[in-house]
Amino acid sequence: MTYSHHFENAVARLKDERRYRVFADLERSVGTFPRATWHGPDGAREVVIWCSNDYLGMGHHPDVIEAMAGTARRMGAGAGGTRNISGTSHPVVELERELADLHGKEAALVFTSGYISNQAGISTIARLLPDCLILSDALNHNSMIEGVRQAGCEKQVFRHNDVGHLESLLLAAGPARNKLIVFESIYSMDGDIGPIREICDLAERYRAMTYIDEVHAVGMYGPRGAGVAERDGQMSRIDVVEGTLGKAFGVMGGYIAGSAALVDAVRSHAAGFIFTTAMPPAVAAAATAAIRHLKTSSAERDLQQRQAARAKRVLSLAGLPVMPSDTHIVPVLVGDAEKCKAASDLLLRRHGIYIQPINYPTVPRGTERLRITPGPAHTDAMVDDLAAALLDVWLEFGLPHQPYRAAAE
Ligand code: PLP
Repeated sequence: MTYSHHFENAVARLKDERRYRVFADLERSVGTFPRATWHGPDGAREVVIWCSNDYLGMGHHPDVIEAMAGTARRMGAGAGGTRNISGTSHPVVELERELADLHGKEAALVFTSGYISNQAGISTIARLLPDCLILSDALNHNSMIEGVRQAGCEKQVFRHNDVGHLESLLLAAGPARNKLIVFESIYSMDGDIGPIREICDLAERYRAMTYIDEVHAVGMYGPRGAGVAERDGQMSRIDVVEGTLGKAFGVMGGYIAGSAALVDAVRSHAAGFIFTTAMPPAVAAAATAAIRHLKTSSAERDLQQRQAARAKRVLSLAGLPVMPSDTHIVPVLVGDAEKCKAASDLLLRRHGIYIQPINYPTVPRGTERLRITPGPAHTDAMVDDLAAALLDVWLEFGLPHQPYRAAAE
């Protein structure tokens, strides 16, 4: 093919910049997660996964599996087309009711991923607001940035979590202008939390709408797992909550929840909703089962928080450069793309520990890291093994670390 060299060159550039990604070929099996089989170059072997965003292991919960398998057996595998053309399957209607209830909103709308829900949600909402100004946190996820871009209206980016900067932009825009503030509750690479209360205060003062991405918080924070806004008593002050069904809820898909009028308008205008095949009924039923379970069970949340706190403590005591994080996310700084990839490879090959390297552009250059997500199924012994394995790899590559400190210090 005469065009091949363009693609080969594009990949070669990534390799030169040490940004070429390799995915491990993994096979999870029910009942043993976070253990999994890695199909590596030398055959299959058992590894422990430390970077899954199935944060609570709900993808392996018996209720969720049974909902998926049972619904597929009764209703078939696919959705049969777009909702506009083929209608809506009943499990999707039930899922949307469940999500609206979860977030205390009038309505919810399900998309085929969290990515699409942000892209379609933000762009459609902003386009429906005349002369809208979007105010977007500097560290928003790529799906939100794409939503902002596709809105085609003016945007201003405020410094990450800087409410002073946001206020100055709101003030300059004036009270009459329509304004949409888009931000996250948990920023997933650093594990820090957005100032939800302060942003809601500003939104009320300056007459702006609020759109929050709770992708890394739904299922895991708040008494019913609705997210950080629920935990902090701010959920009713937020106009639009966006979430995923693919992380703590263990399945796949995304959604927005808000007023009936807003949801109806997005349903009627968003191309990313209208022109794509709907979520299969079995996937919707599985997500509903996960949400229902986590609305009443805090056991998974509590254990996850315990294991995340324990991992932070054990790794820090081992002298590893654990980056400060307010959440279940445990980033360990490497600070070099090549070493980050090499550390990840050695962890897998020598220690049977799988942690995907996080390099630019996911994080800024010089802040390359291993992003660890302890979950309820990681045992204390696994945490101890992880610390020992990381230390071995850190010493192998001469990565910066402090001497071991005894727990009593
Ligand atoms: N929003 C944030 C903050 C994310 O980190 C992600 C994915 O990792 C998404 C949205 C997209 O969600 P999904 O994986 O369901 O497409």
